[in-house]
Amino acid sequence: FERVVIIGAGHAGGTAAALLRQMGFKGQVTLIGDEPVCPYQRPPLSKAWLKGEADSDSLLLRPESFYREQDIELVTGVAVRAIDREARMVRLDRSRSGAGVPYDALILATGSRARTLPVPGGDDPAVLTLRTMADADRLKARLTPGARLVLIGAGYVGLEAAASATALGCTATVVEVQDRVLSRTASPALAERIAARHGQAGVEILTGVGVAAIRPGGTGVELSDGRVLEADVVLVGVGAVAEDRLARDAGLTCRDGVVVNAEARTSDDDIFAIGDCAWRPWPLYGSAGRLESVPSALETAKQAAAAISGAPPPPPEVPWFWSDQYDLKLQVAGLFIDADRQVIRRDAATDRFAVFHLKGDRLRAVEALNAPQEFMGGRLLIASGKPVDDALLADPTVSMKAVTK
Ligand code: FAD
Repeated sequence: FERVVIIGAGHAGGTAAALLRQMGFKGQVTLIGDEPVCPYQRPPLSKAWLKGEADSDSLLLRPESFYREQDIELVTGVAVRAIDREARMVRLDRSRSGAGVPYDALILATGSRARTLPVPGGDDPAVLTLRTMADADRLKARLTPGARLVLIGAGYVGLEAAASATALGCTATVVEVQDRVLSRTASPALAERIAARHGQAGVEILTGVGVAAIRPGGTGVELSDGRVLEADVVLVGVGAVAEDRLARDAGLTCRDGVVVNAEARTSDDDIFAIGDCAWRPWPLYGSAGRLESVPSALETAKQAAAAISGAPPPPPEVPWFWSDQYDLKLQVAGLFIDADRQVIRRDAATDRFAVFHLKGDRLRAVEALNAPQEFMGGRLLIASGKPVDDALLADPTVSMKAVTK
């Protein structure tokens, strides 16, 4: 490969560009993104950035000068409109002449976009979602002390925003149609602890109730049971969908995302897909799917950069992610798709809490709340596949070192 084009200058795309150089790739690298900024990290957008505790420079993956120094052509504020696989070109939005950017290898790193709510008023411009720095700026400007935030959907991003809003002196009400928070992503035991912490902070959580409509200007939320919540700010946090339109239009195999193999290669050998938009193998679980997390963006960026630059393929990693809410530091390793039971370790004295998910005597996932040792030890056990003893896992006085031995 001589010329690599990367579509999407987010966490995965920005990392892939840097890794190509790190792995010795000498050809042209062009990184094209439709946001008007250099690649940045999204996790702080619902945490430190929203609370006003981080400046914009600290959000950037790398300083702007890095791309010049590494001879990476960074094109910002420009969307790719189409992929022409026959001509091996990407067509840009701003190019009226139809000219394009040629590639030998193409990396799709287009991420995901916030899902919208299909109810009357759901498309009102005053109704916010949180995905980009621009979204976070809009939200932050409206989270003035005393403002009433109604958050629709109790996923990680939304709950983090609720925690940040209370730190800013706002009130927050969470509306969740399922019967508990984090119903798609966390175990009931963990979700209960997180919900309880929100309760302590004064956040009202309404579960098992849907949204019928949002009032004009986002001034209120009408619930399916007839109640109305007055609001100054309405934030919809009902998940994200893969940004895979370019791939679909180009005829690449897609499911809920662009289907790739362990090298991040799509159904076209010269096209790769990484990060949130990729439907990727989960080798440790004999399964596949999409993962929306920074570690998955980094891992798949590594796979594509290695395949393109001829470096050895990186070994499979245990999937993981984190979330910060109030004084709670959550770290989750592994997937509990095939687990058949749970072992809970709780330490009342220190507030350490972990839920271990097992299949037979093998650990498949761990949810660790303020419990970094349990997270790290759990991650090692998942990777090694060594049998574990329930009694040791459950006992907070036994160190994770002793459990993993
Ligand atoms: P993105 O970072 O979304 O980048 C994709 C980029 O491609 C975007 O800039 C998009 O505008 C651009 N693009 C799309 N289509 C085109 C096109 N046609 N032409 C040009 N450009 C295009 N993960 C964690 O592990 N821990 C956390 O605590 C955490 N917190 C989060 C908090 C928030 C508020 C959000 C939104 C996400 C959080 N995540 C977290 C998830 C994590 O940020 C994502 O998994 C990660 O950003 C994925 O990287 P990506 O490069 O695949 O996608």
